[in-house]
Amino acid sequence: MAQADIALIGLAVMGQNLIMNMNDHGFVVCAYNRTVSKVHDFLKNEAKGSKVVGAESLEDMVSKLKKPRRIILLVKAGQAVDDFIDKLVPLLEAGDIIIDGGNSEYRDTTRRCKSLKEKGLLFVGSGVSGGEDGARYGPSLMPGGHKEAWPYIKDIFQSIAAKVGTGEPCCDWVGDEGAGHFVKMVHNGIEYGDMQLICEAYHLMKDVLGMDHDEMAKAFDSWNKTELDSFLIEITADILKYRDSDSSHLLPKIRDSAGQKGTGKWTAISALEYGTPVTLIGEAVFARCLSSLKDERVEASRSLPGPQGVKFSGNKAAFLEDIRKALYASKIISYAQGFMLLRQAAKEFGWSLNYGGIALMWRGGCIIRSVFLGKIKEAFDRDAELQNLLLDNFFKNAVKDCQESWRRTVSTGVQHGIPMPCFTTALSFYDGYRHEKLPANLLQAQRDYFGAHTYELLSNPGHFIHTNWTGHG
Ligand code: NAP
Repeated sequence: MAQADIALIGLAVMGQNLIMNMNDHGFVVCAYNRTVSKVHDFLKNEAKGSKVVGAESLEDMVSKLKKPRRIILLVKAGQAVDDFIDKLVPLLEAGDIIIDGGNSEYRDTTRRCKSLKEKGLLFVGSGVSGGEDGARYGPSLMPGGHKEAWPYIKDIFQSIAAKVGTGEPCCDWVGDEGAGHFVKMVHNGIEYGDMQLICEAYHLMKDVLGMDHDEMAKAFDSWNKTELDSFLIEITADILKYRDSDSSHLLPKIRDSAGQKGTGKWTAISALEYGTPVTLIGEAVFARCLSSLKDERVEASRSLPGPQGVKFSGNKAAFLEDIRKALYASKIISYAQGFMLLRQAAKEFGWSLNYGGIALMWRGGCIIRSVFLGKIKEAFDRDAELQNLLLDNFFKNAVKDCQESWRRTVSTGVQHGIPMPCFTTALSFYDGYRHEKLPANLLQAQRDYFGAHTYELLSNPGHFIHTNWTGHG
């Protein structure tokens, strides 16, 4: 009876596409869905003529699986995952593997790992990125959880994942517990940052340089042949070029109010929780929040003055190159911050993360895929213990090369009243990180003044003292 290599529960777009991807790679997949009629529809339509088999119930699905059983859940994150796990547990045997490929919160994954271990089952929480197309033709996969499961799923996962270079799969084991979902969360946060940086470059091109849409599209097309070569730069050029049915550009007609599903916010919350200065992703989330206050902004635009009579009088081509370099330098900061958060989480949870492997997992298949991630992989290949990406020679020199342009871009943008939350926070972070001395000595003195929180003297580290600053007893 056992005939299927793996089962997948959840026949929405991601599930269907991942099943067809596994089918293409020679695996026999058993498909199941809460609403069973969708199994019938799927077999009659998308899966017609394939090796995919369907199941009428969870019992039926389990009976069709080879052992150890491998079951992927691709259902709505949250309660639906717990509900399915509860129903599966009595049907499975020790050593069987449940994989959650949805966008689950990493803490839920850690909780599920612990509870399933007690029941003798193996649990894997895997980040899946790349949207519908990725799922169908090669996603970036970030599995973590019980490592004993990896030898049983490695072949399937690495076969269906996106490939880069000489066929290296964008999938490797990430780490224990919720590490896979944590890495996916940081990926999504970085995606927020990358998108906002591109938007700031677009704003400067449009409102400082007065470039039209075709000129901007050309600029992004040419940037895509530089260090910035990436999916998001590529689609930005396409978006800028796109003309509506009346042959005018579509982009300026779109309401400037951004939505969000929450994974960027989760990254920013984690950064605050673990005390890691992931300022760029935080600003990218807040930029979306500010954009969503559209009606309030329309009101404010009528009464709040900006700089008056400022006109760009410099060399247009030179400033365009400045913007490109500002974007590149800011992007380096964003990834440096993202990897700082991964490092901090690894410390916090005792995970052993393979940072180069993570860069490779993001190198292809996902939304942040870029040539740049190959450079990050190389940096961690040079030094697996690299403290900070900014300290790697390649990135150090890249920032050095961009620095003047970056500062010119930020100061010109400020003079023109252009909001650039991510360009500016990246530069402030860089300046803060490279300063041996920050004004936090004054901060400590203030804390001690009003709250007797004590301070250390540079000459006597580790020894905390209090001063009676007012001289009164
Ligand atoms: P989705 O809309 O998030 O979820 C639909 C699936 O979940 C259906 O199979 C549905 O079953 C099932 N479901 C919903 N509520 C349920 C409940 N209470 N109990 C049992 N089953 C329930 O589908 P999706 O967009 O394909 O995404 C699947 C997962 O992948 C999600 O976690 C999503 O966040 C993640 N993800 C999505 C993307 C993307 O680009 N869409 C990318 C990466 C990751 P019924 O048919 O019976 O309603």
